[in-house]
Amino acid sequence: MIRVENLKKSFDGKNVLHDISFTVEEGEVVCVIGASGSGKSTMLRCLNYLEQKDSGTIEISGSVIEGRRAETELRQKVGMVFQHFHLFPHKTVLENVIEAPVHVLGRKKDEAVAEAMVLLEKVGMKEKADDYPASLSGGQQQRAAIARALAMKPDVMLFDEPTSALDPELVGEVLETMKQLAAEGMTMMIVTHEMNFAREVSDRMMLLHEGRIVEDRPSKELFSSPREEATKAFLRRVL
Ligand code: ADP
Ligand code: MG
Repeated sequence: MIRVENLKKSFDGKNVLHDISFTVEEGEVVCVIGASGSGKSTMLRCLNYLEQKDSGTIEISGSVIEGRRAETELRQKVGMVFQHFHLFPHKTVLENVIEAPVHVLGRKKDEAVAEAMVLLEKVGMKEKADDYPASLSGGQQQRAAIARALAMKPDVMLFDEPTSALDPELVGEVLETMKQLAAEGMTMMIVTHEMNFAREVSDRMMLLHEGRIVEDRPSKELFSSPREEATKAFLRRVL
């Protein structure tokens, strides 16, 4: 579903991603861990064309993403959920969810609404469809943001620390929603510090250290027998 080869990215002459290569199979859930500044967000953002790579190949569900088509194509295939929800504040939850299907994909409004309500029910937000983001808890806003990303029918969902900005008591409901998506077979890459969730839900874990993937293994193995010093140090800090 995702193939990345020799991805490189620098900012102002400073290499942030050195030479990243990996694949993610359809239905696989991969958690990405690593210290702050190791390049996790930049890697996900390159996959979604929020950052433009310097070089390397990115292929998503069978198409190599290159040139002028890249941005539109990627935005449709890849859904992204951020730490700070980024909902449109002056739109209701429902309006947020139908915005891209109607304005980007040109879907009929009544069809988009019907599909949005199914998604909102799935994330437990149907009753809040007509509410504005400011009146919702962080967990509810994040679940609405997940529904909004799903409304584009993406092949892949990327999550960048989706629970880091939430009060502790709201983390569980968002992780539960993500767990449900994983169980339905969605292909997912998740940057997270929630190690119990990662261990339970992900097939594989990838550790980024200074812009390189230093470990990429089945989650259970990585926890029970980390190979690299950087992994051991990271696990000591978060566990
Ligand atoms: P992580 O998500 O693992 O904390 P990031 O991908 O955000 O790491 O950042 C990796 C490095 O790239 C950091 O040194 C950060 O300062 C730098 N960086 C990220 N985005 C930009 C940008 N837009 N301009 C300049 N430097 C950036
Ligand atoms: Mg980050």
